[in-house]
Amino acid sequence: MGYSGAMVPEYEQILEKSRERGALIKRQMKYLGKFRIKNFDHIVAEFHEAAFARIDCLDCGNCCRMLGPIIGESEITRLVKTVGLDRTEFVRDGLIRDKEGFWRCSKLPCPFMGEGNACSIYDEKPRDCAAYPYTDERNMARSLGRLAFNAEICPAAYLVAEMIIERFAPGETKN
Ligand code: SF4
Ligand code: SF4
Repeated sequence: MGYSGAMVPEYEQILEKSRERGALIKRQMKYLGKFRIKNFDHIVAEFHEAAFARIDCLDCGNCCRMLGPIIGESEITRLVKTVGLDRTEFVRDGLIRDKEGFWRCSKLPCPFMGEGNACSIYDEKPRDCAAYPYTDERNMARSLGRLAFNAEICPAAYLVAEMIIERFAPGETKN
């Protein structure tokens, strides 16, 4: 069920904890990223499943509010068709290039965010939305810096980061 407010208080508390532990998480992710840990992608994928068994995106919506999606060129074409907008106007009024040259929404929250944190274009949403917070991907050891960044935005990413620390750097486990 979608939460009618911004984010359920439990998730706000999780993100508060994430901010408290932010420096340690960044340090640990940088450190662990140097190793080739056997089955690391598989292990992190299990952590991802465990985190999303606890976190419901409809009770959160923070990535849609704080980041919005990266939108590929072909996705722009599909999106404007879906929502019935003029492509030129949509790009001019709704998108901006980020530092890496990717298209992103020029205003936040994402304009496709609807009531109860639901996505109004769910079936046509950009690939980036489905992939976020990128905790179920290959070569996770190379993405731990990104995980540390997203842990302060996404409660599920934070839980994954803590599970990684608990497994591979247990001396740094939170109380
Ligand atoms: S397109 Fe949908 S899922 Fe993606 S950021 Fe916008 S509201 Fe969220
Ligand atoms: S992916 Fe993370 S930040 Fe986005 S809605 Fe789900 S729990 Fe929240």
